[in-house]
Amino acid sequence: MINIVLFGKPGAGKGTQAEFLKEKYQLTHISTGDVFRYNLKNDTHLGKEARVYMDAGDLVPDELTTKMLIDEVNKHPDTNGILFDGYPRTIAQAQALDAFLTTINSSVAATIALEADDEILVARLLERGKTSGRIDDQDEEKIRNRYQEYNDKTAPLMGYYKEQNKFHAVNGIGTIQEITQRLTQVIDQL
Ligand code: AMP
Repeated sequence: MINIVLFGKPGAGKGTQAEFLKEKYQLTHISTGDVFRYNLKNDTHLGKEARVYMDAGDLVPDELTTKMLIDEVNKHPDTNGILFDGYPRTIAQAQALDAFLTTINSSVAATIALEADDEILVARLLERGKTSGRIDDQDEEKIRNRYQEYNDKTAPLMGYYKEQNKFHAVNGIGTIQEITQRLTQVIDQL
């Protein structure tokens, strides 16, 4: 299994790039944001628990998120590898992921960050909010709160993966194809 963590602030293009990468490398794409939104839409128990955090632009608690993530991974026992999009977002989640992958004789091969300036991303998200229907994309205050959550809780993960020599960063500004190419250059060298 080759497991890759796509890393980056909200709006950096993780979901868009994941669509290309999953085809090219035959990976299973798991977006925790998408799984949460599916549960919200279907008003499941998990959706009810996650809604208040998501609507405010806060992170959903680790325990709930990790349980959901492990359930998703376990749905794909024969996969070539997982493309994690939006998970892990805290050190506790990264540790939980490492511990879980060990139990299935696997590990994170690399973490690749899509880097872009905050102001460009805020503008991008507000634009996306006009059509995505996502409450958390429509209000600048909520968007800024998501960046605050990122800076406080997610950014420390860069150090976590750098210590393991698993951190790579690519410039997230450019055309979709240019960015896909930058990502594939990293993946092809793993
Ligand atoms: P995203 O689509 O990745 O921007 O995620 C949308 C929202 O889902 C986030 O703002 C969080 O409320 C929640 N979420 C998604 N992934 C995670 C995660 N790994 N940990 C905690 N909350 C998450």
